[in-house]
Amino acid sequence: MNFGLVEVDEPTQKFWNEVRDFLDSVEESVVEHEWKTGDGVNVELYRQLGERGWLMPSLPVEEGGIDATPLQCAILTKELHLHRIPLNSYSNTMQVDAIIRAYGTPELLAEVIPGVARGEVRFCLGYTEPDAGSDLASVKTRATKDGDEWIVSGQKMFTTTAHYAHYALVLARSDPTLPKRHGLTTILVPLSSPGIEITAIHTMGVERTNMVFFDDVRVVDRYRLGPVNQAWTVMANALKIEHGMGESSSAHYDVDGGLNFTRTLALTLDAAVEWALSEESAGRRPIDDVLVRNKLAEIATHVELGRLPSGPVGRVLSSEFLIKDTADLIDLIGARSLIARGEPGAVGDGWFEYAHRFAQGTAIYGGTTDIHRSMIAEQILGLPRSRAT
Ligand SMILES: Cc1cc2nc3c(=O)[nH]c(=O)nc-3n(C[C@H](O)[C@H](O)[C@H](O)COP(=O)(O)OP(=O)(O)OC[C@H]3O[C@@H](n4cnc5c(N)ncnc54)[C@H](O)[C@@H]3O)c2cc1C
Repeated sequence: MNFGLVEVDEPTQKFWNEVRDFLDSVEESVVEHEWKTGDGVNVELYRQLGERGWLMPSLPVEEGGIDATPLQCAILTKELHLHRIPLNSYSNTMQVDAIIRAYGTPELLAEVIPGVARGEVRFCLGYTEPDAGSDLASVKTRATKDGDEWIVSGQKMFTTTAHYAHYALVLARSDPTLPKRHGLTTILVPLSSPGIEITAIHTMGVERTNMVFFDDVRVVDRYRLGPVNQAWTVMANALKIEHGMGESSSAHYDVDGGLNFTRTLALTLDAAVEWALSEESAGRRPIDDVLVRNKLAEIATHVELGRLPSGPVGRVLSSEFLIKDTADLIDLIGARSLIARGEPGAVGDGWFEYAHRFAQGTAIYGGTTDIHRSMIAEQILGLPRSRAT
């Protein structure tokens, strides 16, 4: 691994300045709305990013990108996070886009893909159900073939950003007579179809997610992704992308959940350093205390460590650092760190209590840290499977 500094040449610096200038000009109300609602996207800003070719920057210009180098892509993602631009819809869309490109018919690709880079088409992930999360092979949502159409019926759970998405990638049971993993099919369901109802779930971490109900929703067969009853292969690829493994995970964006969590930890560290330098009591600042300096140094080390490993290792480390470090900072700063944003006396304008709440969900979504530990054991270390199926 090369730990040297990255050279930023003139065109890259120019691009960086352009990105910063644009993101600096984003209205505070966009970030404020996200604080309040956890919607995961601002539709107008999303379209503007698409217009600039910044949603899928590594694509050639004629496909909606800007032919960006990997360094430019990394700069863009970093700045989007630093500016706290709502990105949930973006990362869901990019994951489904990769699956459509791999499994969609030319007809389907022509219909949906051109709008993705332009910021006009968004996707969400319809995998989880009330009784099927880690064990996705247990999904019950039915897809029954009727001529050239599928009739989809059932309920999905935690379908984040469905309320602003145009299509959901739905994992459905197409043959209940086959063993669990073999009777599943993946279908891209247009969310404007009759029979779909979306209900909000507001989480402890502010993020808004949804329940989606499908009541005999008719979808033509060209929206099927991959062969009938073989969704397990499609899902293996979809989850690889979500878990930051394999080629596609680094194409023009990073969906490695770990990196996002580490960026939140970096913002938390900045807020903690500011607190340690600015508060004063009896002529002493928190930073004057060696124990405070030790804790800040430990968190700074975690920020660096969390950035290094990719895939499931990075995801587990980053989530666990974030959960532990935000709790430690709340202990260190004291009760005032639990006062919410906008309330009198809030330390760091409520950042610590927000980050602590946000941290808890990072152990769950995109597959729990327990499941990622199994992946590390089985797929990276080559240890035997912990379960029979
Ligand atoms: C904020 C949020 C957003 C989400 N967004 C989406 C989305 O957009 N689309 C979507 O499809 N899903 C989404 N999810 C769902 C998420 O992927 C699931 O919640 C997650 O996979 C866990 O499933 P579960 O909730 O059913 O818990 P369960 O699978 O019931 O797990 C319960 C506990 O048992 C443990 N456990 C279960 N199985 C094993 C095992 N084999 N080995 C070790 N431990 C195990 C888990 O780690 C966990 O601690 C989201 C969830 C949240 C909270």
